[in-house]
Amino acid sequence: MAILLDGKKTANDLNEITRNRILKLKQRGIVPGLAVVIVGEDQASQRYVRNKHKLALKLGVNSIIKAVPATVTENQLLNLIAELNHDQTIQAILVQDPLPTRLNEQKIMQSISPEKDVDGFTTTNVGKLYLNHSGNYPVACTPKGIMTLLQQYNISLRGKKAVVIGRSAIVGKPMAALLVNAGASVSILHRYTNDITEYTQDADIVISATGVLRLLDSEAIKSGAVIVDVGQNLDENGHLVGDVDFETVRQKAAAITPVPGGVGPMTIATLMQQTVDLTEWGATNDE
Ligand code: NAD
Repeated sequence: MAILLDGKKTANDLNEITRNRILKLKQRGIVPGLAVVIVGEDQASQRYVRNKHKLALKLGVNSIIKAVPATVTENQLLNLIAELNHDQTIQAILVQDPLPTRLNEQKIMQSISPEKDVDGFTTTNVGKLYLNHSGNYPVACTPKGIMTLLQQYNISLRGKKAVVIGRSAIVGKPMAALLVNAGASVSILHRYTNDITEYTQDADIVISATGVLRLLDSEAIKSGAVIVDVGQNLDENGHLVGDVDFETVRQKAAAITPVPGGVGPMTIATLMQQTVDLTEWGATNDE
């Protein structure tokens, strides 16, 4: 039976460290500021943003939500981000995905200053990740949170065969880059991969980020594999579940993340961690 990679507990521990770092910053008269921009009325996005805001306030972050109507023009949104880029009280900016399709998402995301790009989305920060630059830069929060969780459970990556299912800019691709940088050999699978089991059955580590209900069952994985389930789906009973058939896969895997309580809490804890990182890096530059 697999051990549970407890994202809730690991996130709570990380949040405690973040809270203490914020207290130290406040002693220097510095308050980390996080601005989350949300466009439109998407229910799931509204819920994510509320949760981020609640945790940010609890940890002592100056959290502001910039809610704009779905009718916003591209120029209005670019102006809002430009204002936040110049706002000295804001060190971290997140534009909540998804944006209405009529808006040029790439242009909007790339207008965030790389120094305030808390979800590591700008080409500058993505480039640094791919080149495995040393030094300080933000990385997409979900994959970074997964790396923290794996570290917490002493899961070594060097020399391991890893499979990432999903190739999005926000989860799959940065996840693969982090794993390669950590010394794993990585395959990236996606909707056009002919037979995903050909890869997953041979993998020491499987990270699934597709949003496809029951994509992986116990037949699809190797005995003793580590399984990280990023997916968020509703099952037939309206319960939040991942991509993985948890009950059968946990019998065969060595370790597995639950949904809920796995990757989700790590993502939001990493957002807070990186808000403080950006604040500290900025404060050091100023001194
Ligand atoms: P996305 O829609 O941008 O990407 C999904 C990826 O899955 C694509 O690359 C696609 O090619 C691949 N895919 C789809 N069907 C497939 C199949 N049958 N076989 C193999 N690959 C397939 O989504 P995303 O933003 O990367 O998110 C993926 C999932 O992770 C979603 O369920 C999302 O809700 C969840 N998510 C969770 C967190 C968290 O913190 N827990 C954070 C981000 C995303």
